[in-house]
Amino acid sequence: MYQLTEKLINLVPYEPETGDYKIRLDANESFLEPVKELQDVINMAVKQVTYNRYPDPKATRLCNFFAQYHEIDSGLITAGNGSDELISVIINCFLKKGDTIVTVSPDFSMYNFYGSLAESNIVTLSKNENLQINGDELIHTVNEQQAAMLIFSNPCNPTSLGLKRKDVLKIIESVNALVVIDEAYMDFWTETVIKEVTEYDNLIILRTCSKMMGMAAMRLGFAVANKTLTNALQAAKSPYNVNALTQAVGAALLAHPDDIRDSVTLITETRNDLYLTIKDIAQGKQTKVFETCANFILIKPRDAAAVSEGLKKEGILVRHLGEYLRITVGSPVENRALVAALLRLL
Ligand SMILES: *Cc1c(COP(=O)(O)O)cnc(C)c1O
Repeated sequence: MYQLTEKLINLVPYEPETGDYKIRLDANESFLEPVKELQDVINMAVKQVTYNRYPDPKATRLCNFFAQYHEIDSGLITAGNGSDELISVIINCFLKKGDTIVTVSPDFSMYNFYGSLAESNIVTLSKNENLQINGDELIHTVNEQQAAMLIFSNPCNPTSLGLKRKDVLKIIESVNALVVIDEAYMDFWTETVIKEVTEYDNLIILRTCSKMMGMAAMRLGFAVANKTLTNALQAAKSPYNVNALTQAVGAALLAHPDDIRDSVTLITETRNDLYLTIKDIAQGKQTKVFETCANFILIKPRDAAAVSEGLKKEGILVRHLGEYLRITVGSPVENRALVAALLRLL
């Protein structure tokens, strides 16, 4: 009789909340869809896809536009079916079974998920009370554990806090492990190390079009690394991992960097407004509001569960994580409804 292996028996599929909420601020998506002009560009790109042929395995044209957008060499880029796929490929292919991977907590849950599927030895360093990464402590842990890989998000999901460039570089320089920096939200902040990839033999940076470009549905992410690591990633990924539609649409969008930057600016400004408002109404309510470097805000109310339930009753969904609530920036109208509800609930 066939038996599932132990690691699969208790595994459950990832299930995002599917209830019917009129305001969804739970998944860090962009509240903007591509502007009308870009929608036309997308439609044109889709028309030109050759459907009976396999797509370009290297997604060359797409990677060229991504390279231009970031002013880096296109030979350092690997496209993925969402950055999620790239996390899976990296963890499965750059580690040997039993190798140690260091993660931090709280952080993006998929690192530990893929790490355990790959049967790696996962060592998770808890952040302190203020939820910041302590760089020296992290370096110490990676070296003491003789870890093969360190992976964390910067800015961090779910804290929305970031580690400065110089601190990130110090970590990369001080460990004998592959360092994967997931910069899914770096478009909303300034401390990228994307230009430094060629200076290190142990650095991979991940980016995604899901959060900053309003294209979560498209499933498109990128890994940026030096030539050796990029060659290994290209060889290890499945050949046609990014479908022709995504390649065409992604290239068409990245060919309009000004529109992308405009929407990132709008999201960031809206985020700043919401942050100040929430900070204001949290005053004297035993609610901690964390600083934000991304398109979402983490708060620690007196009773997170009660606030989350209260919001749900008003048709507003945020992400409830233990003592915390992670609130994605919505449109101005959505944010006003959120603030009105928080005023009653906090
Ligand atoms: C959302 C998110 C991703 C996933 O991005 P996709 O490209 O949609 O797979 C990766 N890392 C972090 C930290 C995220 O928050």
